[in-house]
Amino acid sequence: MKMTKELTIDAFPAFCRERGLKCTAQRMAVFAAVRESESHPSVDDTLAAVRKTVPTVTRDSVYRILNEFSSLGLLARLDALQAARYDTRMGPHAHFICEECGAVFDYPIGAAPAIPDGMPSVRRHVELRVTGLCDRCAAASARKIAC
Ligand SMILES: [Zn+2]
Ligand SMILES: [Zn+2]
Repeated sequence: MKMTKELTIDAFPAFCRERGLKCTAQRMAVFAAVRESESHPSVDDTLAAVRKTVPTVTRDSVYRILNEFSSLGLLARLDALQAARYDTRMGPHAHFICEECGAVFDYPIGAAPAIPDGMPSVRRHVELRVTGLCDRCAAASARKIAC
């Protein structure tokens, strides 16, 4: 199943230019590795892919670039949960997860989204997750920027 992805690799240098970011070989390779993967790669998966074209890259650099891309809205971090969490509300609802403090807020949605044919049939849990900053952490980070 192919889904449309937002930014093509060809458009990446322009994306960097518009944000005043240097389009380095490392950034390009990190973006390409995640863009070309269908498996929601981890830092280590991404590092392995990037090393094929930039053998000297460090895990720290890959990690830093991935988080930089996440804050630029170029990709989504899916690990906002700091540890397994449990929820007895099994009806359709969505989660807002704070990336900073790990707070999880429920919010209602009308119905669970339809699952297309061809997906595996043993299904236990449907979840819609929104990640970002809770009001408290957003206020704290605004204070940090102000001083
Ligand atoms: Zn928070
Ligand atoms: Zn919940």
